Amino acid sequence: MTYVADLHVHSRFAYACSKNISLKGMAEWAKLKGIDLLASGDFTHPAWNRELKQKLNEVGSGLYQFGDVNFVLGTEISCVYSQGGLGRRVHVLVFAPDFKAVDLLCRSLAAAGAKLGGDGRPSVSLSARDLTALAIGLDCMVIPAHVWTPWYGMYGSKSGFDRLEDCFHDMSRHIHAIETGLSSDPEMNWSFSELDGKSIVSFSDAHSLPNLGREVTVFAGEPGYDALRDALALQQVEYTVEFYAEEGKYHYSGHRKCGVRHSPEDTARQGSRCPECGRPLTLGVLHRVKGLSDADVTGALDTSGMVRSSQRPPFIRTVSLLDIIAQSLGRGRATKGVQREYRRITGELGSELQTLIHSGVHDLESVAGERIAEAVMLARSGRVTVEPGFDGEYGRVQIWDRPEQLPLELDGYTR
Ligand SMILES: [Zn+2]
Ligand SMILES: [Zn+2]
Repeated sequence: MTYVADLHVHSRFAYACSKNISLKGMAEWAKLKGIDLLASGDFTHPAWNRELKQKLNEVGSGLYQFGDVNFVLGTEISCVYSQGGLGRRVHVLVFAPDFKAVDLLCRSLAAAGAKLGGDGRPSVSLSARDLTALAIGLDCMVIPAHVWTPWYGMYGSKSGFDRLEDCFHDMSRHIHAIETGLSSDPEMNWSFSELDGKSIVSFSDAHSLPNLGREVTVFAGEPGYDALRDALALQQVEYTVEFYAEEGKYHYSGHRKCGVRHSPEDTARQGSRCPECGRPLTLGVLHRVKGLSDADVTGALDTSGMVRSSQRPPFIRTVSLLDIIAQSLGRGRATKGVQREYRRITGELGSELQTLIHSGVHDLESVAGERIAEAVMLARSGRVTVEPGFDGEYGRVQIWDRPEQLPLELDGYTR
């Protein structure tokens, strides 16, 4: 038994998040996507906290349900503080076993000056170490969020650290997992030896319902709070499903306003100042990963699209089905036609993840048509072109950018 988890999500009470994120909507989209376990998001926000308590049913061992969709209590907190003469901003995911722990945590955060009624992802003036000590004392779990992103990642170029221990100190032993974020994938993390022995997990950080599950982690076992703790500590990740890292908003370095985009090689050649405005570039995720890597571990693509290495759980890269349908129809992903087609295909094949990862080419062709089947196979096997994202701008995936593209031998990908 395995289950699909998306444990970095937000409610409508977090800044820049869609106003229609409700428990009902989350449960509906979890089914469309094929997600078995969701985090509640934003449990420190008083209004969302009240709604969670009213609408979630506790089914034991830290597991809650809305309808028949499973939830754990999980949120994101922004630690804003100084260390070593530098301003630090580190985002962490915090998971709680029950509402009693949630309420005690909220009380301590409020006592430390956090304004919990504002952003659902509150800022606290505690170090990541001190927040972790507080959380662990309440039987909570902590996972550093999107660790490589420049502004809020533990290893970020703007306000992060070079080593996990520099950030978490004596609490490092309680950190069993890191979230890769959209701009990095597991393979990029395999070459950083201090992450050996840590679980590498991926979640969506969705700010709207259709983005739920754009990255997920598949765990062994049955969903539950204690089971999740064990899975993270023992690295029982079956596989993760990944965005193309180039599609992430901070994969490359650059300046959005100046239209300057740098690969790490460009920065090595031209320096880390913007050639247009002369100010420091926002150094992206690939730059940091390359700078901190101390090993050379690469994976190999198998015929099902999984990237495997001998020591690590595998992962698969894919492209959002809404984007695939939108590109195949030549329309925007929010248009009625694209949405209708999305619901029809996921309904017939079971879910989006079933469609993107598991469906065989013959099923895809008969339900979704040859063009979409081809796109799913191209995405699964790494044969798409991505213009890398930089300085807050998403990368762009092009599925059919080369009209003379060689025909695919799809038979290798039927399973
Ligand atoms: Zn964050
Ligand atoms: Zn510039």
